[in-house]
Amino acid sequence: MSWKRNYFASGGGAVGGVQGLVNPRTMTSIAPSKGPEHEPGQNSCFLNSALQVLWHLDIFRRSFRQLTTHKCMEDSCIFCALKSIFAQFQFSSERVLPSDALRSALAKTFQDEQRFQLGIMDDAAECFENLLMRIHFHISAESREDICTAKHCIPHQKFAMTLFEQCVCNSCGATSDPLPFIQMVHYISTTSLCNQAVRMLECREKPTPDMFGELLRNASNMGDLRNCPSNCGEVLRIRRVLMNSPEIVSIGLVWDSDHSDLAEDVIHSLGTCLRLGDLFYRVTEERARQAELYLVGMVCYYGKHYSTFFFQTKIHFHSDAFSFCVCVFTPNPPPPPLPSPSSIPTSPPLLSPAAPPDWP
Ligand SMILES: [Zn+2]
Ligand SMILES: [Zn+2]
Ligand SMILES: [Zn+2]
Repeated sequence: MSWKRNYFASGGGAVGGVQGLVNPRTMTSIAPSKGPEHEPGQNSCFLNSALQVLWHLDIFRRSFRQLTTHKCMEDSCIFCALKSIFAQFQFSSERVLPSDALRSALAKTFQDEQRFQLGIMDDAAECFENLLMRIHFHISAESREDICTAKHCIPHQKFAMTLFEQCVCNSCGATSDPLPFIQMVHYISTTSLCNQAVRMLECREKPTPDMFGELLRNASNMGDLRNCPSNCGEVLRIRRVLMNSPEIVSIGLVWDSDHSDLAEDVIHSLGTCLRLGDLFYRVTEERARQAELYLVGMVCYYGKHYSTFFFQTKIHFHSDAFSFCVCVFTPNPPPPPLPSPSSIPTSPPLLSPAAPPDWP
């Protein structure tokens, strides 16, 4: 998969041997790292990662700051716990901030489902999705999750992809009933991603950056075959149509096995620019069709630990042992790369390395 060079710097000798991705600029001089506490045994890194994604997204942070009223659930209130930790991120002089209140509110909220319980590791992408849905619950209690139109609901206004899927038979013309749904994270299998990347490169002379959206679309359709709705014998691919224009798009990468050897191929398949119009079979809104989104952050899983990386300059990849779980795209392109610094940490950091230089 040779189009990696179009997207990512290849690493360079100065930082050889460093595992993971690092952000040179913030690592060295500009902003002190601040992050949620991570004690062994707490297994809170899945939550901390989701939290860091929300914090580092300007669009979310600014809108969330403006929210005041909510349906409070007291000691299981995720809204209050988030408000509190965001205030600490902004004002505290401590580098390590306790996220216990949020962890405990999350555990209480999901007690009946036995998910996100104290001391137990869980999935960062699902946690991220569920945090968004809980914020929706706290601020738009009257609206249902699948039809929320509340103007102040950040999850639905900024993150949600409103879709419908349908099968159309080219042979007999039959169409299935459109199935509408909303998703906060667009999941894609890493196996499909890699297979599709190879297939696309086989029939093209040269890879181009705008292939990334198409690659994701093809990968997400792969294997998702249905019988013709009128059973004419055709096997059809499902068509997904995007009906809104989300500002933030999160791509969740699903690893088919714990011991996948695809990490390096996945890295090489990822692009930093995503045209929303390419991601689905059809995109109805003109604004969405024109939207170009840029990779701003990732949640990675390595050595039974989640880390979050947000970038202001560029991301280096040096390890084939990382699993990327969530890639977040927003309309703001990262600033141009700066020269590499001389000193870079040599182990996967427990704290997220990234923090914007100032908090707008
Ligand atoms: Zn509350
Ligand atoms: Zn909502
Ligand atoms: Zn048919």
